[in-house]
Amino acid sequence: VRVITGLRDIQATTDAIRVVGQRIGVVPTMGYLHEGHISLVQKARERSDVVIMTLFVNPTQFAPTEDLETYPRDFENDCAKAEAAGVNLLFAPTPREMYPPEFSIVVEPGILGSDLEGIVRPTHFLGVLTVVAKLFHLTRPHVAVFGQKDFQQAMLIRKMVRDLDFDVEVLVAPIVRESDGLAMSSRNVFLSPDERSRAIGLSRGLHAGAARIAGGERNVSSVKAAIHRELPAGDDINVDYVRIADPEFLQPLEMLTSGTSVVMLLAVRVGKTRLIDNMVVPVPQ
Ligand code: AMP
Repeated sequence: VRVITGLRDIQATTDAIRVVGQRIGVVPTMGYLHEGHISLVQKARERSDVVIMTLFVNPTQFAPTEDLETYPRDFENDCAKAEAAGVNLLFAPTPREMYPPEFSIVVEPGILGSDLEGIVRPTHFLGVLTVVAKLFHLTRPHVAVFGQKDFQQAMLIRKMVRDLDFDVEVLVAPIVRESDGLAMSSRNVFLSPDERSRAIGLSRGLHAGAARIAGGERNVSSVKAAIHRELPAGDDINVDYVRIADPEFLQPLEMLTSGTSVVMLLAVRVGKTRLIDNMVVPVPQ
């Protein structure tokens, strides 16, 4: 796979691709690739002639207390996986070139950026939207693919694209899971064997909630209680949130309405590792 690190190099390259009329599909990642990332590449390939994966552990979306230094990295292996998946270009810029000392202009995420993930991570989405805006200007995508795993992030990116008139189609791909249900994540590598086995409580909780809703439960407190019963418990567990919300604005619901769909969103810290998961389910008539 061809690797480009320079900002002007990638712009010259993507300019040339557009000039000959080819469609560009972009998959932004922080590397340490797993099958979830690969599924995004497959979706991008269906919709474009040239697939660019960006690989950048973006410092501005990590708070000083978070795991920027220890975030897992394996560039050689990522190159091999990207190549095998059919990525044509890997864009891996340096933090220094992305954020020179005089850097100061950012994308403000608005009200949705301070809810849910934004409660625990108040500057996170400002960092995410700013880097995605930069990556879009550098890679010039026709389509960009994100994962439903980061539901709120995908929503905010869609909103940024609408509000700021980016000429990019945003696609969201389903969550890829391990065979026992745990949503794939680069951070799963941090889980000890004991934590790993208890982490399946997140997807179990979502399934329990979905079963309640499918069975006719309309009261959100009862659905949440069913979810909580399956979540891992103990001194080393912190549930940041369990929310049942409308999938458009992520506002918490109290009662569910037949014929709509809802999203169940979870964030749980298992030891030092923060895990998120979600599921969209229909509310039957
Ligand atoms: P990351 O490298 O964690 O920043 O993720 C890069 C992209 O991959 C984001 O759009 C994520 O939502 C997506 N992604 C991460 N994990 C999964 C997964 N298990 N299934 C589908 N997409 C995922």
